[in-house]
Amino acid sequence: GAEDVGFRVVTEDGRRVEARRLLVTTGLVDELPPVPGLAERWGREVLHCPYCHGHEVADRPIGVLATGPLAVHQALMWRQWSDDVTLFLHTGPEPSAEEYEELAARDVAVVDGEVAGLEVADDRFAGVRLASGRVVPREALVVQARFTARSAVLESLGLTPVAQEMAGTVVGTYIPSDPTGATEVPGVWVAGNVTRLTEQVVGAAAAGLMAAGALNGDLITEDTRLAVAARRA
Ligand SMILES: Cc1cc2nc3c(=O)[nH]c(=O)nc-3n(C[C@H](O)[C@H](O)[C@H](O)COP(=O)(O)OP(=O)(O)OC[C@H]3O[C@@H](n4cnc5c(N)ncnc54)[C@H](O)[C@@H]3O)c2cc1C
Repeated sequence: GAEDVGFRVVTEDGRRVEARRLLVTTGLVDELPPVPGLAERWGREVLHCPYCHGHEVADRPIGVLATGPLAVHQALMWRQWSDDVTLFLHTGPEPSAEEYEELAARDVAVVDGEVAGLEVADDRFAGVRLASGRVVPREALVVQARFTARSAVLESLGLTPVAQEMAGTVVGTYIPSDPTGATEVPGVWVAGNVTRLTEQVVGAAAAGLMAAGALNGDLITEDTRLAVAARRA
């Protein structure tokens, strides 16, 4: 059990909050591919999640920027939303013969060569500029962000982020926890993206509820144990 644990949280402006248990929900940092101009369009026309943005860019010309082996999967995923999808091979690996066949069968265009920057007109993303100078008009660009747990607070308590792999490639880091969000450090729970990189809003909120319930159960156990000890004395 998590007996006799306690925490003091110090905020940036010097306030101190003391608590018997800790629930940390500090989320993640999206590390974006280092293409000039890309970060400025993140969450607008530079996207990663079809379940978040699919509807907004349905039937539009979509580009997929390859920076790793998941790019072909991303192209096939966004192909469900638009029949005009172009995969930019950029710094990603050469697709296999099987992948090329899949892309061809789904009418996904493939463009070789490194992407040098983004074309923006009237504060809207308008296309992809290749190192060769060629511009391919697009209205949305899908990227693979690296999801890094924002875990400094948890690391200060002795927890270590571990690598999250997907299809044999590292897509980010997370702080491990059990199904209730309990970490290896007694008294410390986590919920949301800091422990599950693919969690969406509804799942992050549900995990917060689950962790709060488990945490309260732990407090009930402690309060009861202390009350029994006091009564006996
Ligand atoms: C572009 C984009 C679009 C998305 N669209 C959708 C969508 O349409 N639907 C959907 O369900 N999900 C969407 N998501 C995912 C969604 O944002 C996450 O699932 C959700 O925000 C996770 O919640 P969280 O509470 O775990 O983390 P966050 O929402 O990231 O919250 C973490 C909070 O902790 C704070 N924090 C961090 N460190 C500290 C510290 N040391 N001290 C104090 N505070 C700290 C941060 O400032 C932040 O407020 C989208 C994500 C992105 C990037």
